[in-house]
This record gives sequence, C-alpha cells and structure tokens, in this order.
Amino acid sequence: MTTAFASHPLILTLDMHGAPHRWVTWQHACFYYAKNLVAWAAGDNFFIFHGGINRSTGERSTITANSIIAIKGKTLGQKNFSAVPPLNNRELFHRDRHICAYCGGEFSFLRLTRDHIIPVSQGGRDSWMNVVTACRHCNQRKSGRTPEQAGMELLYAPYIPNKAEFLILSNRQILADQMDFLAQHVSAHSRLKAPA
Ligand SMILES: [Zn+2]
Repeated sequence: MTTAFASHPLILTLDMHGAPHRWVTWQHACFYYAKNLVAWAAGDNFFIFHGGINRSTGERSTITANSIIAIKGKTLGQKNFSAVPPLNNRELFHRDRHICAYCGGEFSFLRLTRDHIIPVSQGGRDSWMNVVTACRHCNQRKSGRTPEQAGMELLYAPYIPNKAEFLILSNRQILADQMDFLAQHVSAHSRLKAPA
C-alpha cells in the first residue's frame, strides 16, 4: 500500500535481530536507504520521497521507504539503547490510561499529575516504579504522604514499560502496521494488553 500522508509519519527502526529500536524521521530513513544501511523491511506501508534531478538522465531520484526498517550492523548507536525508557508525564499518563490511581477517574492531560507513591521528601525516587498518574485533587489530598499515611488506596500498580511499549506510548501518530509489530514485543503485564 502506498499512501499519501499530510504529515509524514515516523519510521520505526529495528536492529538486525528485529528488536524495536526507535522512531526516526523520514529524512533519517532516507539517509539509511541512501547509505544502503536498510537490511530488510517489515511494514505494510511505503512512502515515496523525491530527491534531486539527476544531471545525466534528467530524472528525479526517488527513495521508497517502508514504515518499518531493520538497520544493518552497528549503525544503531548504543547510546540510545537503555533498558529503562525515560520517564515523561505524557508516557506515564498513557501507561496509566489517563486514570487516576486513587479515585479511578479518567482525566485529560492538563488535569493529571505525576504522583510519587513514596514522596520524594521521604526518599522516594522519581522512577517508573514509584510513580502513578493522579488527578490534581487526589494529589493535593495525598500531599507529602505515602498512600498508607494518607489512608488512600492504590487502584493499580506501577510498572516499567519495556522498549516496545515505550515506543507505542511515545508516538501519537503510530501506523497500524507499526502498532501491530510493537504489540508483539509488549510484555504480558502491560496495561496496553489489559482489557479496556
Ligand atoms: Zn483522583
């Protein structure tokens, strides 16, 4: 399927073993194609990008890029590889389905906060395993206390999203084939797999 998109979607890159790596822009994907660094492709979508005019043939060069590409060898820098994805509110709220861990209400981004289960003031860490999504009201009520100290019960447990889940959480314009591919790599305890 060749599709024209108003704005170019991100391209999912994999390592040679097929493990999800990161999102790249179409320009970056074209660079991989131009340098012959694309080992194989796994997506259902193709995008045609037009380059410059070839002086000898007078024809415009094109690159056809797939929505999911595996990159050869060591070109994937290890610096981006990390077992624990970075903690951001957008991905945190998405992990928790925008549901407050204390009252169970569903809220928009602006009405949600990052709650430290063990407060930072009591030595709690700012990490995936110590944070949940809380509405402003519940966060204020809990204040600088643990759930036990505040007499509030956690409705769900925190967890660390794996790489594939983080890639899903961090791309709001994910394509269906990219979603299907990444879903296979999401761990079983993920809330993305839980029934809605
Ligand atoms: Zn709440």
